[in-house]
Amino acid sequence: MSELPPVDPDRLLATFLDLVRVDSPSGSEGACASRCAEALAEAGCEVFFDDSARVTGSDVGNLIATLPGTVPGVLVLSAHMDCVDPGLGVEPVIEDGHVRSAGPTILGADDKAGLAAAIECVRTLAESSVAHPTVKCVFTVQEEVGLKGAKALDPSSVAGDACLVLDADGAPGGIVVAAPTHYTFVADFHGVAAHAGVSPEDGRSAIVMAAEAITRLSVGRVDELSTANVGTIEGGSATNVIAARARVTGECRSIDRARVEELRAQMEHTLKSAAHERGGSCDVRWNLEYEGFSLSEDASIVALVRGACEDVGLVARTFVTGGGSDANVIAAHGVPTVALSCGMEGVHGTDEHIEVSALESLARLCVAVAVRMSAG
Ligand SMILES: [Zn+2]
Repeated sequence: MSELPPVDPDRLLATFLDLVRVDSPSGSEGACASRCAEALAEAGCEVFFDDSARVTGSDVGNLIATLPGTVPGVLVLSAHMDCVDPGLGVEPVIEDGHVRSAGPTILGADDKAGLAAAIECVRTLAESSVAHPTVKCVFTVQEEVGLKGAKALDPSSVAGDACLVLDADGAPGGIVVAAPTHYTFVADFHGVAAHAGVSPEDGRSAIVMAAEAITRLSVGRVDELSTANVGTIEGGSATNVIAARARVTGECRSIDRARVEELRAQMEHTLKSAAHERGGSCDVRWNLEYEGFSLSEDASIVALVRGACEDVGLVARTFVTGGGSDANVIAAHGVPTVALSCGMEGVHGTDEHIEVSALESLARLCVAVAVRMSAG
């Protein structure tokens, strides 16, 4: 294998600190996108924004930047540009080798660690003479609010031989090899309204139907590969009215594609039969949020990343997640995809932090994957 070109740790950290200071709530990623576009264009990428803003409503499209390769093959590096609340006015501080937020905000390492590492990988490859495949950075909008940017991507934008989604927490070396298929539902219970004091016999309570249904549903970790949840409940209009309507929302997920359909059918049956038994009805509307993916340990992309981990002195560990990410959407386009741990800890909370050395490891890992791909 060729010698790995070294990343520039100071430049990487400066990029990261710069990006976390830029506000980028979901829907307003424009300023962050401009910084990334500028850096990538300067490194020699051809940069464009897709037309997804029409669909997502963001102030910018997904950013697609391509660094031409010196050998065949395409490596896709994906990260998202939006951050969760409270994420405005982030002021980073470095304490004991960790970057944290000084104020009452998140840090935004989720996912600016991914953006910064991808940019550093591109810069490193561009300025070195090492052979490398084409590297495509795909930086999405509105990941945190339902993978909206990724869902609006044109499949040609993510076409490649391998895709690394730089967006999992935990120490670098972590490789997400499976994530669930995820369905959500809205269940509307229909009963019959009646005066609660005068003619309760005439009423059919939609709230009681919903309650009965919920107690019968299996929720939580329903098996090793599957979860289910009831997320919200609302209904009724006044204490003296037997409720004519109630709405319950929830979800189910499974790594096993067939199992999630089975769970969905069971949940729907439970919801409907509880309504029927009490003289009402229930409409259930399902939405497929995203498809899952599941790679075997001997999949070539897993072997590729494992090898690259070894190259940079990281201990590779594969794991399964119960959450979704842009990796789910990209994998569904047929691109061999894994999500990688980026070193961020405590994500979506105000004690979010990342070790400076983890950020470096992540950038080096991306470079190592690119170099390994060029070795064929
Ligand atoms: Zn994220």
